[in-house]
Amino acid sequence: MMKVLKGGRLIDGTGAGPQAGATVVIRDERIEAVTTRAVGEWPEDAEIIDVSGMTLLPGLIDCHDHMAMHGYGLATRWGIDEPQSTRTLRTAKVLEETLAMGYTAVRDAAGLDAGFKRAIDERLIRGPRLVISLCIISPIGGIGDRVSPSGFSCCVPNDPLLPDGVVNSLSDVRPVVRRVVRAGADVIKCATTGGASSRPEHGPQDGAFNLDEMQALTDEAHALDRRVMCHALGGRGLRIAIEAGVDSIEHGCYLDEEPELLDQMAQRGIFFVPTFAVYDFHRKSPFPHVRERAHHLQEHHVASLRRALAAGVKIAAGTDAGGHGHPRNALEIECLVRAGMSPLQALQAATGWAAECLGRERDLGTIEKGMLADLVVVNGDPLSDVAILQHSENIALVVKGGEVAANRLPQGRLGGL
Ligand SMILES: [Zn+2]
Repeated sequence: MMKVLKGGRLIDGTGAGPQAGATVVIRDERIEAVTTRAVGEWPEDAEIIDVSGMTLLPGLIDCHDHMAMHGYGLATRWGIDEPQSTRTLRTAKVLEETLAMGYTAVRDAAGLDAGFKRAIDERLIRGPRLVISLCIISPIGGIGDRVSPSGFSCCVPNDPLLPDGVVNSLSDVRPVVRRVVRAGADVIKCATTGGASSRPEHGPQDGAFNLDEMQALTDEAHALDRRVMCHALGGRGLRIAIEAGVDSIEHGCYLDEEPELLDQMAQRGIFFVPTFAVYDFHRKSPFPHVRERAHHLQEHHVASLRRALAAGVKIAAGTDAGGHGHPRNALEIECLVRAGMSPLQALQAATGWAAECLGRERDLGTIEKGMLADLVVVNGDPLSDVAILQHSENIALVVKGGEVAANRLPQGRLGGL
């Protein structure tokens, strides 16, 4: 089956500037051709979609999301405030809505189990392509160790689909990684520092894990062909993560204090996934220690992005959505522009560079011959205002693997659908 998207403004995700009058030819699930030349005839059965006046983008990618998290309150985080079936359906709705906003791939940074991926593959529900991590691997007291402010550990029965990520000792590291992979993880998520919303006493520059433990973790993950995404904001934990050879630094708010680390990241191809949107949210947190941290890191986070770009580190967009931000994930793209990226760079961070960060650049992230046909047709020009991507009325058409996943095109543009 052939689809032809005709006459749009193309931003292909490679970082190249826009091309006017572009036509993208899709055969089955892949892109067969991309051209700006006038093409005369199409086969009888080709479906011609007029996208003139609109912008064609690769399907957007969020490299850091928590699709199954629906709030920061303790009962919600622990999953005890509603029936599990309600929660599952709520997550399914987030997956559908996120896809409809043009996000055709999402890397989940903990919380989403492999059943959702299977449900999407089996077409029980609609959703983005998923790269999942299941849980956060950290030592006792790290952010993956769920203890209430009163000192109780989590009261929820252990879910075998979401293995416990708490590591007790060096010898425990490899078995935990193996268990997480056995349960279906595509990527290993770990944490070497606290964060804005972690417990008091375990803040953004407080370390977790020692170097030997992190080396065992990255070594085991890589032996199992899994990349390592590491939550690390600043200080000793950030240094250990990079030294141990993780594949992406998530948040990375205090990278500006470690210029030599940025050079190492550039040399070793370690991605930086800043997460600006979540800290806007945390600056309004009901908890004083969370607000304080989110304010303190703000300027550093912006400086980290600028220094990273200057050092040649590739940036991938991540919202850290979950409890906030769904399905307006494209807010992060606007945040990247406010922090100093050009709109074209910020779009690359959410497409081409994001696909590289996931290790899926041979299939995803750019509109080029041979790639999977994941793309978004946008009303208007995101290069003059990236904020238009946050509003559903501007997301005219979403195609995933050559199939229409959401369609808000004006009548007559898309025959027969
Ligand atoms: Zn996160």
